[in-house]
Amino acid sequence: MHTFPDAKAVVRELAPDEPVILNRPHAATRAARFFIEKFPGKPLYAVKANPTPDLITTLWEAGITHYDVASIAEVRLVRGLLPDAVLCFMHPIKTPKAIAEAYHQHGVKTFSLDTAEELEKIVEACRNPETGEPATDLRLCVRLRVSSEYSELSLASKFGCDLTEAPALLQLTRQHCDWLGICFHVGSQAMSPFAFVQALDRTRAAIAEASVVIDMIDVGGGFPSIYPELEPPPLEDYFQIIHQHFYALPIAYNAELWCEPGRALCAEYSSLIVRVDKRRGEELYINDGAYGALYDAAHVAWRFPVRALEDDLRDPVQDFACYGPTCDDADYMAGPFALPGDIKAGDYIEIGILGAYGAAMKTGFNGFGNAEQYVVTDEPMASLYDGSRQRPEADNVVSLR
Ligand SMILES: *Cc1c(COP(=O)(O)O)cnc(C)c1O
Repeated sequence: MHTFPDAKAVVRELAPDEPVILNRPHAATRAARFFIEKFPGKPLYAVKANPTPDLITTLWEAGITHYDVASIAEVRLVRGLLPDAVLCFMHPIKTPKAIAEAYHQHGVKTFSLDTAEELEKIVEACRNPETGEPATDLRLCVRLRVSSEYSELSLASKFGCDLTEAPALLQLTRQHCDWLGICFHVGSQAMSPFAFVQALDRTRAAIAEASVVIDMIDVGGGFPSIYPELEPPPLEDYFQIIHQHFYALPIAYNAELWCEPGRALCAEYSSLIVRVDKRRGEELYINDGAYGALYDAAHVAWRFPVRALEDDLRDPVQDFACYGPTCDDADYMAGPFALPGDIKAGDYIEIGILGAYGAAMKTGFNGFGNAEQYVVTDEPMASLYDGSRQRPEADNVVSLR
């Protein structure tokens, strides 16, 4: 991958006709090191947030050894790149064929489930094909349903067993494995550490009721990144509160603590160069949108930082909305995006913090899916990891906003 100092250099050299994704391996490495050094347990990478192979190998080189995969295609992808990585199949609904291939061909031992049917599916698919003996090395995680009330994107309704079902499912699952975990997901971009307190309280209730030995607690993803008007408290606050509440759980003395960040590990990895192809008043028609890397900007009106890449724009910034390139009214990003008032057709814009659920969402709809990718070495437009937002070591007061 060709390397440039920054987005302006790319525009000067290439004047790209199509959107360009800019990747910052140093930002992903820094995020991974932060989690490895400061999270009081093991951080997995949730591959769905951004499955770019260069990112996956960058995270591995930074020390991320475990990967949360959710489909057989993700299993094959990560196994192809990283023969020694530990893969955890954390989607609670899998097909028998996907489970069997993951277990027998790719060495996957860790699976999540939220029903007795899924447990049975896993046990059957992992039997020894010759002897019919059940697998003895399964590591199973029961997914609990928890509240998403502190998060920008809910994951509360689809997966997870509720507190009335959890004790029986934990007891049943314990009969099929020597290593039993509990996992949950508080929703993406959790804006308060308290999201994890609530979820861990529910975990405690489930364990107390089930009275089984628990070997692992996986607090999932949901760790925030930083966007306009979505500036979270320092991640250290999340880690500290998780640590406290984990230690208070009635679990095995050597129980492990895991987390599965997607967004927090990769959001700062990518930005996007788009070109203004037309201006109509305060609306800019740009060449990427709802069916591309700006899925969240369109569908959940998420705001991303922007900057104009031309040096000759002089007017003060004003608010713009953007249309994407397809022939569809839904291809619209309300923003607002603050850009110089004299921006015009032909000008380029960089949109930042798109590494999570941005690059991963690009489709070819209407013929607009192309994007070259380059490495740039400048800083992301905002960062949780550049030292500017961390609490000083001495100040270990957790604020619950
Ligand atoms: C999506 C997902 C993640 C990552 O979530 P983020 O909010 O991006 O951190 C982790 N675990 C599971 C099971 C998921 O579905």
